Amino acid sequence: MSLVADELIRFSSVLRIAYNFLNGRDFLKRKKFREKKKLISVGLPFSDLVYGFPDLIPVFPIRMHEFEIHKYLTYLGSSSKIFGWDRVTNFLGWVKDLGIKDISQTVDDIIENVIDTINSKYNEMYDIGVENGISTDFCYGVKSLYGMNVSKGKNCDANLNYTIRCSTWNKYLESIEAIGNPSKQIWVEIPPRNIGNSLELFIDNITQGINELEKLSNFSYSENALRNHFQTANQIRQSYKKIIYDISTADFYPCNPATFCEILSLLNISFHDYNSNATRYKDNTTLLLNEMRGRINKGIGMDVSKMPKILITPMFGGWEPKMHDIIYELGGRVLYGDWDLLRFLDDIPISNRADPVEAYAEFLMNATENGIGCDNDILTDSYVRLAKNLKADGLVFVQVFGCHSVSNCYTMLREKIRRELEIPSIALNFNKMGENVEQVRTRLGAFMEMYK
Ligand code: SF4
Repeated sequence: MSLVADELIRFSSVLRIAYNFLNGRDFLKRKKFREKKKLISVGLPFSDLVYGFPDLIPVFPIRMHEFEIHKYLTYLGSSSKIFGWDRVTNFLGWVKDLGIKDISQTVDDIIENVIDTINSKYNEMYDIGVENGISTDFCYGVKSLYGMNVSKGKNCDANLNYTIRCSTWNKYLESIEAIGNPSKQIWVEIPPRNIGNSLELFIDNITQGINELEKLSNFSYSENALRNHFQTANQIRQSYKKIIYDISTADFYPCNPATFCEILSLLNISFHDYNSNATRYKDNTTLLLNEMRGRINKGIGMDVSKMPKILITPMFGGWEPKMHDIIYELGGRVLYGDWDLLRFLDDIPISNRADPVEAYAEFLMNATENGIGCDNDILTDSYVRLAKNLKADGLVFVQVFGCHSVSNCYTMLREKIRRELEIPSIALNFNKMGENVEQVRTRLGAFMEMYK
């Protein structure tokens, strides 16, 4: 077996996650039309409740689109249908039988191609959003999500809408109904602060959300089903956190830092709905962690001990993905950890709560109070906590055009970073992927000079 082929197999988890993301359309069509399941649209990582019902499938709506799938991923996917993923090594023999002898592409190339494909689809969604009248004052993330709902929302039976502290987000949720899709709007209001009886109110809101989901499902709500899902979701979180904390802070990487960032980007986006199958996603993230460790143990990868660690955040409202390539070219390595920043990677506390709804309410209340934060003071503390835990040597803050909830906290953040961590930071403006890359390069060039 060639070295490259061997590498493809030893990093098969990342290719599986990529394939499951890009092949979402076929998967979801099968679920909807053949298996008569119902699709529930989610934005941000709010898919968990849907998994309480076996015939409801959560979907981050961009995944209903058709993506150009890299030929090796197609072979891998087709081969998995014949042989099963566990015997995926056979795919190489199968590829050879097809007469495709030139297995010359490395995992790096394939992953880069995957991320480029997803990002250009994001920009396409942004354009659709703008063309269909979303306010130009809104942030990139919301414009793209609106575009996803305009183009594919009609395929969903419902939108599961969680309100958060950001008024732009909440206005966007309200605007989904006006698109005119037949989907039902299910609302779960998260109280902005945990004061008085907020937690009890929130538990009621989640219970109402479950009741609405139950009306769509052919199954009754079962505490056990939700509890089992939360166990799976916690295993996903544990692997994800180990990748962020153990692998991305280490001195030796299982691949080059730019590829590593692309894997983190893929995790970041697929975490929204766990690629519509939480058990499969759990298996793949566990395998990803093991494959990364396996490569490191065998000395396959790259010594990054001399490369300063630069935390880029936030990504969730949109960010320029070229930044991690630029920083790599300039001798640094980029860390991403948005979901941990927002406390979405904390465990759902089911071990000390009898009722899974109470556990979930506590989990989301913690994310709201201590991650997203009900004010900029708490939010900036979250950035500082993440930078400190990751032992970052610098921080690049993404100031998203149209974001009045997060972007205006940089002055406060810069002060805290300087006082508490004594590391440099910089704020870069972002409007749309691919715009102003040269300007970003120049600013990052000056920033990285500080590490020479
Ligand atoms: S917080 Fe900012 S980036 Fe996030 S949805 Fe609101 S406006 Fe957009």
